[in-house]
Amino acid sequence: MVKKRLVLNFPPHLIDRPVTYELITRYKLRVNILKARVTPKEWGRLVVEVSGNKNDLDAALQYASTIGVEIDPLSKGIAWHQELCIECTACTSICPSKALSVKRPEMTVEFDRDKCIACELCIPVCPYEAIEIQL
Ligand code: SF4
Ligand code: SF4
Repeated sequence: MVKKRLVLNFPPHLIDRPVTYELITRYKLRVNILKARVTPKEWGRLVVEVSGNKNDLDAALQYASTIGVEIDPLSKGIAWHQELCIECTACTSICPSKALSVKRPEMTVEFDRDKCIACELCIPVCPYEAIEIQL
């Protein structure tokens, strides 16, 4: 059993196609959708956690790529620029997964990339543009 967090980018011609359903039924994957942004006739984006047998997962991603889905690892999605952060802690209270948190008693801000679900809630909150989506 392997597990990956991925960003799936769907071109407009695939928006109405049940690709996620195909991945689940054809390749027996578990797909946990962490975030979805789908607009008719535009690109769609899903942030997912997928798990399953390694061969099935590899085959599923190969299939998705073949039909036109662009696949990126989630770990490349969020950048926290510590050198720009003034540790105001504004982002830590809005972060739903606690990827951004305050270390106590030092009161320093930390970013745990593995916990981040790329919800982007922190982006408009940060007054110093210390957090960036790189998708
Ligand atoms: S995008 Fe920002 S608010 Fe959302 S989970 Fe990641 S660090 Fe937290
Ligand atoms: S909102 Fe920006 S400046 Fe404030 S703690 Fe978060 S990353 Fe740092």
